[in-house]
Amino acid sequence: MPALENHVSIITGASSGIGRAAVLLFAREGAKVTASDIDDEGGEETVALAQKSGGAARFVRADVSKTEDVIALVDATIATYGTLDSAFNNAGIEGTTAQVTECTEDNWDRPLRVNLKSAFLCMKYQIPHMLKRGRGSIVNCASIAGLVGFPNLAAYVASKHGMVGLSRAAALEYAKHGIRVNALCPGVIRTPMVDRTTGGKPEVEAQFIAQQPIGRMGKPEEVAAAALFLCSDASSLVTGQAMAVDGDGVAQ
Ligand code: NAD
Repeated sequence: MPALENHVSIITGASSGIGRAAVLLFAREGAKVTASDIDDEGGEETVALAQKSGGAARFVRADVSKTEDVIALVDATIATYGTLDSAFNNAGIEGTTAQVTECTEDNWDRPLRVNLKSAFLCMKYQIPHMLKRGRGSIVNCASIAGLVGFPNLAAYVASKHGMVGLSRAAALEYAKHGIRVNALCPGVIRTPMVDRTTGGKPEVEAQFIAQQPIGRMGKPEEVAAAALFLCSDASSLVTGQAMAVDGDGVAQ
């Protein structure tokens, strides 16, 4: 039986990288998926790919840092599919590289808004629908930067540490109501975000790879597989966790 039969899921950041891989996997595993992003073209492409392999998915544009967009996203999902079983709150940005003293207030605010406030907003409007049925699973995409520090990325690191804390607090609040909340902490995953960070320069890529105990970057599909596990009933006893999917990176 598919892992997500009769299951409705919202996946944000669905136009690219990890989010796209998750939409394709969730749809293949039987879920009806609302794929959301600010990038319409990429989102429609993700949905077309999911539908091509027989999956049920539709695109809803939403900027997850905006309350009205998040409400509309959740409402559109309920209007289309009637319920909500899980959410992979995955949209995020890397922000600008700078030491704390060089980081502008705007470069501080943006990652906090897009990465952290978004997860709060998504849960705020997703959880009430899950409470009605007494079940649900939320996965917030943090990072190994939510577990350890990295220099020159203070806002990103703070947003991802915040996401781990937010997920733990929400997990405790809703455990008795059948709702699980976990943070997923990918390591270095080959996506457009990492391509932007390396600038596509082979020597910078080689440095990134040299730091990976498994000797390679992760694939978006490997993170999607962990999100699937956490969203599905296979992880029914797992809540309040920050799960590293990083090829042993934080074990060093
Ligand atoms: P990506 O850039 O390929 O995809 C991110 C997606 O989020 C894009 O489609 C983008 O349009 C969307 N997005 C950005 N701002 C948005 C907003 N305000 N509202 C809605 N959508 C928005 O990056 P990715 O690597 O697939 O990253 C996905 C998540 O994984 C992010 O939260 C990122 O921080 C996290 N992550 C990535 C890595 C990595 O190495 N790639 C490692 C750890 C954590």
